Amino acid sequence: MDDRDDASDDGSETDGTDSGDAGGEDGRDGSSSENGSRRTDSQTVALGDASAAPGEVARGWLSVAELPTGTSERLPVVLVNGADPGPTLWLTGGVHGDEATGVAVVQDAVEALAGVRAELAGTVVAVPVVSPAGLRRNARHTYYADEDPNRHFPDADAESARPPKLQERIDARLYAAITGETVEGAGRSAAGGDETAGADAGGDNGDQAPVNPPVAEPAGTGVVADALIDCHTAGVGSVPFAIRDRVLYGERRSEDAAVSLSDDLGRLVDAFGFPTVREYPAAEYVEENLQRSTAGAVLNEAGIPAFTAELGAHSVVDDDLVAAGVAGVVGVAVELGVVPTAAVPESVGEPSDVLDPAPVEFPVRRFRGPTADVSGLLRHRVAAGESFARGDRLADVVSATGAHRDSVSADRDGYVLGRSEGMATYEGDPIASLAVRDDGDLVVPREDDGA
Ligand SMILES: [Zn+2]
Repeated sequence: MDDRDDASDDGSETDGTDSGDAGGEDGRDGSSSENGSRRTDSQTVALGDASAAPGEVARGWLSVAELPTGTSERLPVVLVNGADPGPTLWLTGGVHGDEATGVAVVQDAVEALAGVRAELAGTVVAVPVVSPAGLRRNARHTYYADEDPNRHFPDADAESARPPKLQERIDARLYAAITGETVEGAGRSAAGGDETAGADAGGDNGDQAPVNPPVAEPAGTGVVADALIDCHTAGVGSVPFAIRDRVLYGERRSEDAAVSLSDDLGRLVDAFGFPTVREYPAAEYVEENLQRSTAGAVLNEAGIPAFTAELGAHSVVDDDLVAAGVAGVVGVAVELGVVPTAAVPESVGEPSDVLDPAPVEFPVRRFRGPTADVSGLLRHRVAAGESFARGDRLADVVSATGAHRDSVSADRDGYVLGRSEGMATYEGDPIASLAVRDDGDLVVPREDDGA
């Protein structure tokens, strides 16, 4: 994919060559840290080496780490700054390097919104490829430590005796840019070598001395998120859906604040227009470190509405699903108030032009399972997108010669989000990703043991 298409047919796009410190210091409402305050009037916004005045689009790079070979790991950045002030919507994609359709949705959504920038009230910040190291290998994990980059965002309640690893530092730097929060313990531990890093700090001088403990500073001006959509694709052959995380409360958030945040989130997820699947119950959520995913951390750590879009078409870009994803993003931008309804580009339709509604009427949550009791080859009996009732046979496990060994049945009602990839299954393996009936609360104590 092209990485720097500075198509500027009207001269109002810039390619991020200025220093990025052009943001006004006035007009701050003081609701957030200095570098990342939400803006209350029209101003130049900046992230990394991209800087966009009101009514402008800018493309550039946010440097997040130094590589051993002397270059830096840079995330692509597109800023669409509306002519009028308003909320800031972040779009991220490609945190899993093999999830092609998510990257394309971010690219196309920001392109569609750039086309109507004169009518926007607010800013769209897009980082289409959050994990360049995964994209290079076309792999979910990075090669730094073969870890899931979407489980290493900051979590103040996660205790660790060891210093943060590179992936945690990269994620903390992006998180600081999104939220405007300073993250202790995850910043640059050494100075130098990276020309763009200085600009990231929004006015700090560029050659910091070694910092101990390292701190990730907000890397932008006027770009603190009011909402975030993180674009993914679930497994091969899975149906599209949006994940609504539960909002956790406890020592660091009251139940009332959690209810309010969850309501705000619900409005945005509804505006996205995809079938909604609630996330795992709290205990499983924390056990899986999903509060340290991009959307999980922005929602549950920073308290900013954020959700994960599972767009379908895992490894190959599907143009219909891209259109649905773009329509969903624009729907959220309208709900948030960034895009006036009258300014929605004609080319943007509705997600329902492409997507089928959920095949069940009741609320559902993600469920990985049921599991096989014996090892063998899986023959699925219910397709992705098809509903089932408790007791229905979902799959058979057969031997390699095809002889029946066992059956796996549903222990609850729901529908299939996606079959497990590959035929080989081992005893204890989940056979599918399901959406199952959910009677649980959307706002839960962090220590909840689930339902
Ligand atoms: Zn993913």
